[in-house]
Amino acid sequence: MKTKIWSCLVFHKLLYLKRMDDCIFCKIVKKEVPTKYLYESKNLIVIPDINPAADVHILIIPKEHISTFVDIKKEHKDLILEMVEVAQKFIKEKGVEKKYKMIFNGGSFQLVPHLHWHLVGGDFRKEAV
Ligand code: AMP
Ligand code: ZN
Repeated sequence: MKTKIWSCLVFHKLLYLKRMDDCIFCKIVKKEVPTKYLYESKNLIVIPDINPAADVHILIIPKEHISTFVDIKKEHKDLILEMVEVAQKFIKEKGVEKKYKMIFNGGSFQLVPHLHWHLVGGDFRKEAV
């Protein structure tokens, strides 16, 4: 029984590592894929969206591979507070206080399964984010 539980745990860990290996945002965090880093701290990065939907379109991405919004736990509270503060900073710096949206997608709306918040501001260039 114990062996079964262990092999199950190991299997899940391997699956998790495989997901991180395939994850474009984990690769960007590890600097394996080129991008412009607008901001970086111990816990998160901010990059421009590769396919901007508006005049301002940036992504706030935790370094930890949290898959999606519903996977956020109490232990992430400092990270989430930092994401909020960084979003506020960029809203002000980009001068979009009068016209912005924060968006996070989930389920089949989420194309990259690594938590990220979109900050879009100014005029939209296309419909959906
Ligand atoms: P979603 O997962 O649906 O919230 O959207 C993922 C977003 O990531 C899309 O807006 C993509 O344009 C963006 N994206 C995908 N790959 C990259 C990349 N290498 N650098 C910057 N943005 C990206
Ligand atoms: Zn990831």
